[in-house]
Amino acid sequence: MGKATGFLEYMRKTGPCRPPKERIGDFKEFHELLPLGEQKLQGARCMECGIPFCQFGAILGGMASGCPLHNLVPEFNDLVYRENLEGAYQRLQQTNCFPEFTSRVCPALCEAACTCNVNTEPVSTKENERTIIEYAFAHDLVRVGPPKVRTGYRVAVVGSGPSGLAAALQLNRRGHEVTVFERKDRIGGLLMYGIPNMKLDKSVIERRRKLMEEEGITFVTGVDVGKDKKAAQILKEYDRVVLACGASQARDIKAPGREAKGIRFAVDFLSEVTKRLLDSDFKEIPYSLAKGKDVVVIGGGDTGNDCVGTVIRLGAKSVTQLEMMPKPAEERTASNPWPEWPRVLKTDYGQEESIEVFGKDPRIYQTTVEEFIPGSKGEICKIKTVGLEFQKNEETGRMDMSQVPGSEKIIPADLVLIAAGFTGAQDYVMDAFGVEKTPRGTVADKEYETSVQKVFTAGDMRRGQSLVVWAIHEGREAAKAVDESLMGYTNLS
Ligand SMILES: Cc1cc2nc3c(=O)[nH]c(=O)nc-3n(C[C@H](O)[C@H](O)[C@H](O)COP(=O)(O)OP(=O)(O)OC[C@H]3O[C@@H](n4cnc5c(N)ncnc54)[C@H](O)[C@@H]3O)c2cc1C
Ligand code: SF4
Repeated sequence: MGKATGFLEYMRKTGPCRPPKERIGDFKEFHELLPLGEQKLQGARCMECGIPFCQFGAILGGMASGCPLHNLVPEFNDLVYRENLEGAYQRLQQTNCFPEFTSRVCPALCEAACTCNVNTEPVSTKENERTIIEYAFAHDLVRVGPPKVRTGYRVAVVGSGPSGLAAALQLNRRGHEVTVFERKDRIGGLLMYGIPNMKLDKSVIERRRKLMEEEGITFVTGVDVGKDKKAAQILKEYDRVVLACGASQARDIKAPGREAKGIRFAVDFLSEVTKRLLDSDFKEIPYSLAKGKDVVVIGGGDTGNDCVGTVIRLGAKSVTQLEMMPKPAEERTASNPWPEWPRVLKTDYGQEESIEVFGKDPRIYQTTVEEFIPGSKGEICKIKTVGLEFQKNEETGRMDMSQVPGSEKIIPADLVLIAAGFTGAQDYVMDAFGVEKTPRGTVADKEYETSVQKVFTAGDMRRGQSLVVWAIHEGREAAKAVDESLMGYTNLS
C-alpha cells in the first residue's frame, strides 16, 4: 500500500458526467474519466485490506458480493496510485478478458463490497479499471498477436456475447483454432444490441474484435446455428462446441389487448435503435420510433431504464415506468448489511434524465398492467393499470401479491416497451443440439459440459439472465473445461 493514509486524506471522486439536458441530444457516452493525476489519488484511497471483500465474488444473502472474476483489485488500485499503469494492466488482464466492457457497464460489485463503505464511500475501483484499460489500449499493450503454437483442435463458439467472446479469447490463446458464429450482423451480443450506445460506445466492441481477429479468431456473422447451419454439421467440423447463445426468451405480459400494435419487447426496440444508428453512422436518428409518443415501459429494472434513456433521446412526449415491486429503501436495512449487495433505491441515468426533462421520476411502484386498450385502428392508445399489495404468507414465509381493488387507472400509451425479464434460452438451438434443459429454461450442465458429448455451454444460456461480468467469468470457466477435455489438463486460469 503506497499511501497508508490515502483513505483518510482523499475523498471519493468520480469522473464528470455530461449534464442530462445536454447528453439527451445525442447517443454518445456521457461519463468521462478524471485526469490521471486525480485518478491516482483515488487509487491511494485503497487500504489493501487483509481480507479484500472487493475481490471476494461469493454469494451472500442470495446476491453476489465482490468481483465474480476475482480481479486483483487492491494490487491494481495501488499500481494506479504509483502511476504504474502498465503493471496495473498486467494484473487486470490476468482475470478479466474485457475490462473495457466491465469498466463501462458493470454495476461494480467490487465497490459495493469495499470495506470503505463501512464509514465512508467506496474506492472508485471501476474508474481505476477504465483508466488502466484505456491506457493499455492507447499504449498498444493489449495487442498480443496469434499464439506461437497451435494444437490442431478446432472449437466452434455459438454466440458472440461477452461469454462467447471470453471463451473464444481464452481458447485461441491456448492454441486451439476458434470460430465464433453469430446470427446478427455484428458481434457482441447484448453488448452490441441491448446496452445502448451512450452506456457502451459500439466502437469499443469493434476495437476488441479487430484485435481478436489479429490473434487468429474467425468471426462468422449472419449465421443462425440450428437454422442456417445445422448442429450436426458443426459437430462434424469442430472438435468441441461452446453454446453461448444468451437467455433471450423475453417474458411476456399476458393481459387483454396484448395483440394491439405498438407493444414491443424492450430488447427488440433497443436493438433496432442501435442498428439504425450504426447503419447510418449516427447520421440518422430514428426519431419516428418514439417522437411525440406517450411511452410506457413495463419493468423497473436496468433494461427498463435503458428504454427510458433511449426514448427520451428520441423525443418521447412522456415516459412512465411501471414496477411491480415496492419502492426499495433509500439506505441499507438491518437485514441487508455490508458487504452484501445493497438492495437500495438506485436512480440510474435514464431516470435522472426523466427528472430533468419531465420533472419527475418515471417509476410507479407496486403497479402492473391490467389491460392494453387499443384505438380504432388496432394501435395501442391507453393502458389500464392496477395497484398491487404484498402480504407475508405465514405458511410459506414468502410474500403473496394481490391486486388492490379500486386502484385501477387509465394512462395514455402510444408505445409500450416490455422489459419484464427473460424466461430462459431459446428452444430451437438447445433442441438442435439435443442438450438437456433445466426447469428454468437454461441449458443443464455439469461443470459447463452439457448432456451431449463435446458440447459445452456458458453465460446467460447456462445461468439465466445475469451480468456482463458473470458472462465473462462463465466464458473463462467453459474455456477451461473445453481445454481440459481436449488436452487432458488445462493451464488456463
Ligand atoms: C437491455 C439490457 C441491458 C443490460 N445492461 C447491462 C449492464 O449495464 N451491465 C451488465 O453487467 N449487464 C447488463 N445486461 C445483461 C448482460 O448484457 C448479459 O448478462 C450478457 O450480455 C450475457 O452475455 P452472454 O454472452 O451470455 O449472452 P448475450 O450477450 O445474450 O449474447 C448471446 C449471443 O448469441 C447469439 N445467438 C443466439 N442464438 C444463436 C444461434 N442459434 N446462432 C448464432 N448466434 C446466436 C445472439 O444473437 C447473441 O449475440 C443487460 C441486458 C439487457 C437485456
Ligand atoms: S475492500 Fe476497498 S479498500 Fe479494501 S482492498 Fe478492496 S478496494 Fe481496497
